Amino acid sequence: MALPKHLPNSPKPFKNRPSPRWVEGFKEHVRRTGLPEAFPGISWEPLEEIYGAQILTEFEIVRAKRPNLDMAPCPICSPAAPKFLKGVLIWVPSIGKVCAIGCECGAKIHEDWNAEKKRRAQEKKGEIIESFLEENLHRIEEIQKNLRYARRIAKDHRSCWSSFRKECPMITYELREAMKRGPIFVTERISSNQEALRSLGLKQPKMINRQIGSVTGQAVVKSRFEHHKENFALENQLEAIKFGSNQQECFLKICEMTYKEKQMTERLIKKARQEISKISDLNKDFISFFEPENLRKLNEWSQHENRATPFRIDYRLGQGRMKVSGRGIPTTFVDMSGLCSTHQSPP
Ligand SMILES: [Zn+2]
Repeated sequence: MALPKHLPNSPKPFKNRPSPRWVEGFKEHVRRTGLPEAFPGISWEPLEEIYGAQILTEFEIVRAKRPNLDMAPCPICSPAAPKFLKGVLIWVPSIGKVCAIGCECGAKIHEDWNAEKKRRAQEKKGEIIESFLEENLHRIEEIQKNLRYARRIAKDHRSCWSSFRKECPMITYELREAMKRGPIFVTERISSNQEALRSLGLKQPKMINRQIGSVTGQAVVKSRFEHHKENFALENQLEAIKFGSNQQECFLKICEMTYKEKQMTERLIKKARQEISKISDLNKDFISFFEPENLRKLNEWSQHENRATPFRIDYRLGQGRMKVSGRGIPTTFVDMSGLCSTHQSPP
């Protein structure tokens, strides 16, 4: 085989990855001479084994510096003929060789390297999923119970919502519109000293919006109420991954699962938890409507002198009904017996 004349003779094997300082020395040598193949320690024999090859650096050759003004040969694809000016320095741990190869062959190693990195990342992710399942798979029954409990409360709230809407359609509509933007406002005529400001030539509006404050409990007056409904797809899926509450038995089930099944199971458990917390938040919001301070603010708004039909809401915890009264509207008692279930303890 016609190898370059300046071929270094069988270099000492690299048992360990060459040091950064050694690699820097190589690059400096290439910058100076344009001859990567002549750097002491570089193996120049044809290279067949590249398993586990690691990339040490990339480099470029200035052709004008090479004695024959040629390109460098690549020990992988072109050991005997000029091949590249852009190269990659690699270390092959399995055979202890360091070689300067062309960037095309380098790209192949890059690909393998990236595939390996991806595989390891997935393996690590698999471990994370597995420990999540070990923590949670035996809790499916508990998750189902919490879900059912949250929905049962929501169902009771729905009966309150529905009575309020049926008995007082205009009032629920007005409350919904007012509560839409967070804080509630009343519109008031500006005071006399502002009239004075106006006399000084400062233009002022006649009416201003005064903020009463933030109120909660939009769930009580919203136009649609749905979170009490069962989600059959979710509930059936949970049933399918229920393997009892014995941690060891669940662990064996996890071992039988494929990576994809583990992923799906993890996602399902997380989805169920999200659903529970969404329903619980809406349930809490519902109850918060009836807190005394919240009702005080709402009544300040609803009874304001500038309202065409002022009204007020009275409710005391555990009363079972809510009184809605006002000027020009018949006093109405709205059935709130569903609210009592909220104060029962969870299963
Ligand atoms: Zn090559």
